Amino acid sequence: MEISENGIPLNPIHWFQFADDAAVITGQEKENQILLNRFTVWCQWAHMIIRVDKCSTFGIRKQITKSIQYLPKLFINSRLVPRVELGKSFRYLGRYFDFNMSDEDHKSEVYDTLTNILNEIDNLPLHPKNKILLYSRYVLSKISWHFTVSDIGKTWVNEKLDNIASTYIRKWLELPISATLSNVLLPRNKCGLNIILPSTKFLQCQTVSRKALKTSPNEATNYLWKDTSNYKNVQYDSYKNTKDVLTTIRKQHEEKLQQNMISQGSFFSNIIKHSTLSFNSIWSSVQSKLPKNIFNFTIRYINNTLPTRKNLLKWGISSTSECSFCLEPESLLHVVAGCKTYLNQGRFTWRHDSVLNFIASTLKSVDHSNLYADLPGYVSPSVLTGDELRPDLLITLGNKCIYVLELTIGFESNLLTNVTRKRQKYQDLINEQHKSYEKVKFINLSISSLGVFSHSSLDFIEMLNDLKFDEQCRKYCVRKIINICIRSTYYIFCKRNQEWNNPQLMSY
Ligand SMILES: [Zn+2]
Repeated sequence: MEISENGIPLNPIHWFQFADDAAVITGQEKENQILLNRFTVWCQWAHMIIRVDKCSTFGIRKQITKSIQYLPKLFINSRLVPRVELGKSFRYLGRYFDFNMSDEDHKSEVYDTLTNILNEIDNLPLHPKNKILLYSRYVLSKISWHFTVSDIGKTWVNEKLDNIASTYIRKWLELPISATLSNVLLPRNKCGLNIILPSTKFLQCQTVSRKALKTSPNEATNYLWKDTSNYKNVQYDSYKNTKDVLTTIRKQHEEKLQQNMISQGSFFSNIIKHSTLSFNSIWSSVQSKLPKNIFNFTIRYINNTLPTRKNLLKWGISSTSECSFCLEPESLLHVVAGCKTYLNQGRFTWRHDSVLNFIASTLKSVDHSNLYADLPGYVSPSVLTGDELRPDLLITLGNKCIYVLELTIGFESNLLTNVTRKRQKYQDLINEQHKSYEKVKFINLSISSLGVFSHSSLDFIEMLNDLKFDEQCRKYCVRKIINICIRSTYYIFCKRNQEWNNPQLMSY
């Protein structure tokens, strides 16, 4: 640095560098005061006003063998520069520094920000999916700066922040305290809500900041990375990028669902095995448009935390787990697809026929075809097949082709079983039809009570394609079917332990 005797820098750029580094000048107080005086003179020369009240000093000095913080006495124009109190922090380039590098100020600021905004969102009259959207898009970005620049540990974020976020998410989705959040943390094609907890965001931010140090074109910065590759930071270096963090975390949740928690993970493990991921994205978009009560119903269904008597007994709210009609344990499967009494009362048939009715009314429009459906108002399939083995729906195109459609709606755990059972049941009938038609296509449409399509349902899409339904129409059909399934299952669930009054077919 070249400075003339009256303190005016010969080369202002050097002086600016000095000014920028002022926060970390080292040396004796006396020397620093001399530097500060020169700086003050230069500012006057450059017509710059120093706001002393905006400046601050932070002092560390060696006392015998260890360093301590002290209060420096530095003056600008005879005014004492405000000092950072002992144990307190100052903020430089957005990061808080205190003597112990404790990050307490980052912690309290991030904690308050999270709590306050979540509380505000909580008070808004919004659909739970929009509250979650606000959380994901707004809240997480608000706290990500602290997650990037500070060293607040993963454990702290896990214990404190995840806890607050989880509490609100549970509240919005009306999930009981015992419910795992693993299901909603999964991506949408796995029937999750794509939610990211603060600890995952923290890992992502740390990964970004570590990568920036490592790959910086500045050698000194690379050295900083090497020098800070300690036990704590090594864990962040193991991730390739932010996506890698997310994939790893989600995998852990999937494993948790598949291994540990049978009742809360059974939906997930069944749909992973027996459903088509491309359909699940449509399912997710249908779910997101459901009204609040049915939306939350689907979440609790997936978690198996709906108030069935079996769950109520487990939670100590009910004294019995018995179904009031058949005395078997009232589990979710029992209510929505299992109870023999409900079956005889026509509850499940009502749901089945509601979906079939939609399919039949859609296929009515196919040109040069004959439609047979096992529903009032349609010619019965038994005209062609006899009464003994009567599929749900037949559609013929002259004597060229016949589609034999059998629809099953059952619990997620039975998706595959139902497919196999129906195929065996109708094998002879299919063989028989080969005598009259050039092509016989068996459409084995097996859907879960929550509207998840099994693998074999792809045949249904292929049929719609053959019958000249364009892609938009095909998706519309799938969306409608999912909607009818979810809504009718919701109705069946609400009507548990009550009289069944044979409602009209659902025509949502
Ligand atoms: Zn029952």
